[in-house]
Amino acid sequence: MPGIPLRNGGPAARIAVIPGDGIGAEVTPQAVKVLKAVAVPAKRALEFVEFDWSADKYLREGVTLPAGAVEMLRDEFDAILFGALGDPRVPSNQHAADILLGLRFQLDLYVNARPVELLHDRLTPLRDRTEKDIRLMVFRENTEGLYVGIGGNFKKDTPDEIAIQEDMNSRKGVERIIRYAFEYARKNGLKRVCMSDKSNAMTFAHGLWQRVFKAVRQEYADVDSRHLYIDTLAMELVRDPRQFDVIVTCNLFGDIISDLGAQLAGGLGLAPSGNIHPGKTSLFEPVHGSAPNIAGKGIANPLGSVLTSAMMLEFLGWTAEAAALRVAVRAALHENYVTPDLGGEKKTTEVGDWIAARAAKIASTSS
Ligand code: ATP
Repeated sequence: MPGIPLRNGGPAARIAVIPGDGIGAEVTPQAVKVLKAVAVPAKRALEFVEFDWSADKYLREGVTLPAGAVEMLRDEFDAILFGALGDPRVPSNQHAADILLGLRFQLDLYVNARPVELLHDRLTPLRDRTEKDIRLMVFRENTEGLYVGIGGNFKKDTPDEIAIQEDMNSRKGVERIIRYAFEYARKNGLKRVCMSDKSNAMTFAHGLWQRVFKAVRQEYADVDSRHLYIDTLAMELVRDPRQFDVIVTCNLFGDIISDLGAQLAGGLGLAPSGNIHPGKTSLFEPVHGSAPNIAGKGIANPLGSVLTSAMMLEFLGWTAEAAALRVAVRAALHENYVTPDLGGEKKTTEVGDWIAARAAKIASTSS
């Protein structure tokens, strides 16, 4: 997948690592190992500082996102490599909301970039589709919409209960994500941008998306732009994904449509994402969650986290090293050196070791 805007492109970077819960704590160390392996031959200085923010810490100390954490990350780190949060012992998911949504909102990471790229023909559930047919980018608005937590319950836990959740959309917020999608398409020579909403039913909130989209698209006459209602987009993505290069949509729809996209390209174990504010400290995480059902078994697929690290390297301006990671992941898929979710029998650490060795070799021959 083509690059995303540069953070610095310099020879050194400081990375905050938040492995989190469940399989997040299993796959993230694999990604760090792979990053260290490519940094050496590429003569890059990557410094990692790990933070133990997780359900364990929350249950032990009552702390979710410590005081001053956001400022520290913003001022002292170039990027954040994140695993996953979620633990059955915290049914409210309070720590996940405070940490992940807290960082997205407080670092103003308004672009959630979720590439959907088929890396091996056998991985798609779609009949007769090949690698060249499934290659697109979903941009999910990441700081507004139904995720802002405005609402409440009235007469909770009674038969008369009322629950309200507000969908908050600002003109500034809608405009910057739509504009980012067009800029990304233009910079990467991609021809088509599709904005998706549900403005026929959500006339106020998504009426705003419609009006902003119509205004912004005027400035990008070189890019083909169109609109689809979200239900139609879901249908069309399955029917013929070749229609799409760039999709831009709101927070909730982006969450759903990118999971659909992940399945088109081999499942959650492979899907990467970036939570980005161009030019500022940004956070990179695999699309999957903590997957309590397979946590602790050593079988989680680390490739989503490795591809996430490749996105992070691109953000840092290290395109050759990012490419080395991607080539190594493709090689693992082609040689079937993979975990059970992709039909293999390798363990998480075995795949991590294999990718690290292969990526280091590629980086040393290209440097
Ligand atoms: P969320 O935190 O997003 O609410 P979750 O933690 O319940 O979700 P996910 O981690 O998103 O679940 O994944 C759903 C299922 O997909 C998992 O239960 C697991 O079976 C599978 N899965 C997800 N990620 C991976 C992975 N990296 N390797 C193998 N299987 C995975």
